[in-house]
Amino acid sequence: MTVSRVYFIDLRASAKENLPSKLSNLLETAGLSDVIEPRNIVAIKLHFGEKGNTAFIRPVFLRRIVEQVKSLEAKPFLTDTNTLYAGTRSDSLSHLVTAVENGFAYSVVNAPLIIADGIRGGAFFPVGIDKKWIKTAFIGTDIAEADALISVAHFKGHELTGFGGTLKNVGMGCASRKGKLEQHSGLCPKVKTKKCVGCGDCVDHCAHHAIALKQEKAAIASSRCVGCGECILICPNGAIEVQWDRDIAAFQEKLAEYTFAVLKEKQGKALFINFLTGISPACDCCGHSDAPIVRDIGIVASTDPVAIDQASVDLVNQQRAAHGTSLKTSLGPGEDKFKGLYPKVDWRTQLMHAERLGLGSRSYDLNIAEFRS
Ligand code: SF4
Ligand code: SF4
Repeated sequence: MTVSRVYFIDLRASAKENLPSKLSNLLETAGLSDVIEPRNIVAIKLHFGEKGNTAFIRPVFLRRIVEQVKSLEAKPFLTDTNTLYAGTRSDSLSHLVTAVENGFAYSVVNAPLIIADGIRGGAFFPVGIDKKWIKTAFIGTDIAEADALISVAHFKGHELTGFGGTLKNVGMGCASRKGKLEQHSGLCPKVKTKKCVGCGDCVDHCAHHAIALKQEKAAIASSRCVGCGECILICPNGAIEVQWDRDIAAFQEKLAEYTFAVLKEKQGKALFINFLTGISPACDCCGHSDAPIVRDIGIVASTDPVAIDQASVDLVNQQRAAHGTSLKTSLGPGEDKFKGLYPKVDWRTQLMHAERLGLGSRSYDLNIAEFRS
């Protein structure tokens, strides 16, 4: 059994040792200089946050990562891909405006911002992998063409995968629109008519015109639905649900296979970082961030995308839940916070499939990255 190394820093800081300098030590200890060579073009993949969201990683940390990559004589850019759903990041123009409004201006982060899959998400690079679900993956061109990848993920809850960490940031986050559609295909939600009050919010919100009101109840046309899942979040009455048994396991396995595709040409050229801060119950794609479910924990880094997510979920679950959040069960140390948030989602599926694909190991050693003056 392979045991992978995951490196950790807590959030304690002092005049001698501030958090950005601890982050630098973490990156160095986790192997940044092994991953990057002089003149490499380096994609730093993050989530810029939807407009109104406030839980995404603070730009000052990205600046530190950029500076460290530049110190290795490489050329970094900050990147993400466009979203499937209607929002403030569904084309490159609005995506860049949102990123800047959330603080990721060049003057702050010291690197160019490039949306990797073109103005409308149509720029992809096909990667043949021939796996259980995905035969050819469609990756955002500019990420596929980069020499190296640094994934910087905000670790939090997610309505379809239980938690969102490295696998979500890489597998879904680096996919072009065609790639996202492929992962979401078959994931058409259903309406619980007893709960639907016919307000029409979901009809207005669906960018694919897949929902109509029939006899004052929402009805979804599966032939139009792309499975983006947005209507689930939009409905104020919880009347729209994923078809849990059928869809979720396949979705998570496709996500792992897309991660495999993104990393196929980046062996030895990728580093993964998870920020266990502001651990909100749902994705940064939401236009709001609900209160964090546990205290801020720290930052982890690894060259193993499976081990880092396993370590992150374990670190969160070891905590006692914060008071007064949307998490109402599984509150004690050792209890599964993500199962508490999303009882019908088994987050283990993505990790187990990723391990089967040879992406990494669920067994890990957690090492404290020491401060070096
Ligand atoms: S948003 Fe919810 S309650 Fe309103 S019409 Fe859609 S399903 Fe019904
Ligand atoms: S009906 Fe389908 S396409 Fe429309 S918002 Fe819901 S999941 Fe997305």
